[in-house]
Amino acid sequence: MEITRLKTKTPSPYRITTIQEETHDTKTFRFALPDNATLDMLPGDHLYVHATVNGKAVKRPYTPSSLPDTVGYFDLTIKRYESGVISKYVHDRQVGEEVQMSGPNQGGHWIDGMATRVGFVAGGTGITPMISIIRWILSRKLAVELFLVFANKTEADIILGREFGHYLREHSNFHCYHVLEQPPPGWSMGVGRITPEMLRERLPAPASGTIVFLCGPPPMVDALERSLKDLGYAEEAIILP
Ligand SMILES: Cc1cc2nc3c(=O)[nH]c(=O)nc-3n(C[C@H](O)[C@H](O)[C@H](O)COP(=O)(O)OP(=O)(O)OC[C@H]3O[C@@H](n4cnc5c(N)ncnc54)[C@H](O)[C@@H]3O)c2cc1C
Repeated sequence: MEITRLKTKTPSPYRITTIQEETHDTKTFRFALPDNATLDMLPGDHLYVHATVNGKAVKRPYTPSSLPDTVGYFDLTIKRYESGVISKYVHDRQVGEEVQMSGPNQGGHWIDGMATRVGFVAGGTGITPMISIIRWILSRKLAVELFLVFANKTEADIILGREFGHYLREHSNFHCYHVLEQPPPGWSMGVGRITPEMLRERLPAPASGTIVFLCGPPPMVDALERSLKDLGYAEEAIILP
């Protein structure tokens, strides 16, 4: 069967086939593609969700969390913000309803062979562009060491925490360090916000063949991009999806 690689400039409708709860405010929505179609994208690229809300046309970018090259469907993992226009719009949809999307569009994506040691520094939903990259590298058994530093408010806010726990047990090249603002009793990993010291201890040292993906709320990204540069990472080694 010949596979069609889909990419559209104008919005097209995609039907929701399943909705899975990930955390108290985050769900994964699965959208149908034709049986012989996949999205024309690299891990980390994004789609735009379009909607008309209160008479106003709006769009926001979302990075599919399913593996690129998946045929017949793709997933978006979306956190609901109480006052968020598009995240609330998608969370209010039901199985069977359609959502308008355009793309995929290029973001700060992963290309096989671009590095052998990869750091991922994520805050909250900043993990979403990294999900498909981590899944891609592990599922293809690429010779790459992965180092995730993931900040959240509480343990209940960690998106895909169980999956990352599974990778820690099953893949010796996957390392993960969680940082919580409000840790539970007995917590043994990071507390508070991600510090330069944590980056120095938990990420691979700056070197050729080492890159770091950084994504999260803008103040966090600004502060940690400066910290990474101070630690010696070259500008081109820091990728903002
Ligand atoms: C390349 C890219 C890929 C992305 N992929 C994903 C993804 O896969 N999954 C996902 O859930 N999101 C993703 N986002 C974020 C997403 O595009 C929206 O910004 C987010 O869903 C909020 O949009 P909204 O319309 O609901 O909120 P808006 O109407 O834009 O914002 C309303 C209020 O919500 C709050 N808010 C919005 N965004 C944030 C935030 N990031 N942190 C803290 N508070 C916020 C603020 O209080 C804001 O005032 C991505 C962003 C980029 C740039």
